[in-house]
Amino acid sequence: MPVASDLTGLASKDDVAGAALPINELFYSLQGEGKLAGVPSVFVRTSGCNLRCWFCDSYHTSWEPTGGWLSVDDVVAEVLEYETADHVVLTGGEPLIHEESVRLLEELADHGYHTTVETNGTIYRNAPIDLASISPKLESSTPTSDRAPNGQGEWETRHEERRIDIEALAELVDTYESQLKFVVTGPEDVSEIEALVDRLRAATRSAIPDEDVLLMPEGITREELDENRTEVAELALEHGYRDTPRLHVDLWNDAAGT
Ligand code: SF4
Repeated sequence: MPVASDLTGLASKDDVAGAALPINELFYSLQGEGKLAGVPSVFVRTSGCNLRCWFCDSYHTSWEPTGGWLSVDDVVAEVLEYETADHVVLTGGEPLIHEESVRLLEELADHGYHTTVETNGTIYRNAPIDLASISPKLESSTPTSDRAPNGQGEWETRHEERRIDIEALAELVDTYESQLKFVVTGPEDVSEIEALVDRLRAATRSAIPDEDVLLMPEGITREELDENRTEVAELALEHGYRDTPRLHVDLWNDAAGT
């Protein structure tokens, strides 16, 4: 089973000296998605996001952010406790909203870790990132009042304005090894994915092969994934993109810290 660090009693921001990050959870598990699915990894999940997808699978980093503050040095010390891991996944929320994520990535690189950053692609930062796992958000993610988890549509306009930033996406793709990972809610999402990939290819210096465009079924429980995983796999086959599982959901369903 995955193992989680005990983060109860974390300090508030003012009580932590030096560079610090709001941490929602920190645990050791298998990477569940993308090119590195199946690789044992330490996950550092920061709290806070600049978007509000209605289907967010880390609700307590976005809609109701929770967690406490840890110094970057203490985050690294926690990561080092998991001695069998040589991969670290910095995720959120949106970890790149925090400038201190750069310092954390630098320290992890100094310790020899392979780092993946899971990002929604709206923010570029210059940091030692081995894999930028970019998940641009489609129109189907927008929290309209009929699908927002809090039953209100107050984030609809902000989310819609912020969810795609071609310049930030292009800079991420041109700077780092990357994958574009799309949460697919149904076949109607594919034309938007194709249009976005075309726009991005026109904006980048580097090629974006179809195998780096990943389709991932929407769903945070096995039952939800079962409803659309085959359809999404068939869309990947039809369009030449890569299908990605959500291995952690298949193995541990929607348990926290997996
Ligand atoms: S961008 Fe990611 S963390 Fe932020 S609301 Fe969307 S799914 Fe959640």
